[in-house]
Amino acid sequence: MAKVWINGKLFDKADARVSVYDHGFLYGDGIFEGIRVYAGKVFKLREHLDRLYDSARHIFLEIPIGREQLAEAVVATVRADGQRKEGYIRLVVSRGAGTLGLDPRKTTEPQVIIIVDDIALYPPELYEQGLEIVTASTIRNHSNALNPRIKSLNYLNNILAKIEAIRAGCLEAIMLNANGEVAECTADNIFLVKRGVLRTPPLHAGILEGITRDTVLDLARAAGIETQEISLTRHDVYAADEVFLTGTGAEVIGAVKVDGRVIGTGKPGSLTRQMRERYQQYVRQ
Ligand code: PMP
Repeated sequence: MAKVWINGKLFDKADARVSVYDHGFLYGDGIFEGIRVYAGKVFKLREHLDRLYDSARHIFLEIPIGREQLAEAVVATVRADGQRKEGYIRLVVSRGAGTLGLDPRKTTEPQVIIIVDDIALYPPELYEQGLEIVTASTIRNHSNALNPRIKSLNYLNNILAKIEAIRAGCLEAIMLNANGEVAECTADNIFLVKRGVLRTPPLHAGILEGITRDTVLDLARAAGIETQEISLTRHDVYAADEVFLTGTGAEVIGAVKVDGRVIGTGKPGSLTRQMRERYQQYVRQ
């Protein structure tokens, strides 16, 4: 049974509640993290907490609990969920319940929430076949509007692009930045392979610094594969030998058709398969 921790108290999924006056609900005023549990261990908890506290600093949100305490609470919530060995943790910090106005000063204590549940982002067969994706007309939030480095509760930008993907019969969409460069997908970072070199957009393209992205870059470098964080255009994607997406939920998944163009052989390529295997091994070691 999924468990939910709210400000120090543990609830069953069905009993976990927050106020309808919570500014996370009313305005998307808050931040979150999505974290996986592999073989009973919380994967890269430190890195996720670092990103959470960095997001909090950017939006002037004081998390009312220290990093160590929060780490312990995450582990305790996983343990509370029976014999769970695999799963997904959603860590949410909202501004808290307030008045019907934007003013963040008029809220009570931030709500710190830890949900431990399951996740399956894509059907298993798509990891073998690869995804078909499209480029969304909705661009990624401009860094000077709502910086994509903040993992904020306001995901409407991504959801609009996701709706475009779904309407095009796809499950993911590439989002460009205001310069027309490739940024990322709606909930994943994007990589491509060209002549054996692994390329991904740099942070200044206006992307979330994905923890899976960082892990894949580290694993590739350790394996002697050349990596580049470099501005990419749609042309680079169409002309790539391989394309794959990375994310906590998605892990590593190939994309084999982009805007109707077949990528490489039309099947997940050898480096994509290799990175997926290396990632699967690494997360369970
Ligand atoms: N970009 C966006 C917009 C995301 O929502 C996610 C998922 N958190 C990612 C990239 C991948 O990040 P991570 O590898 O840390 O899950």
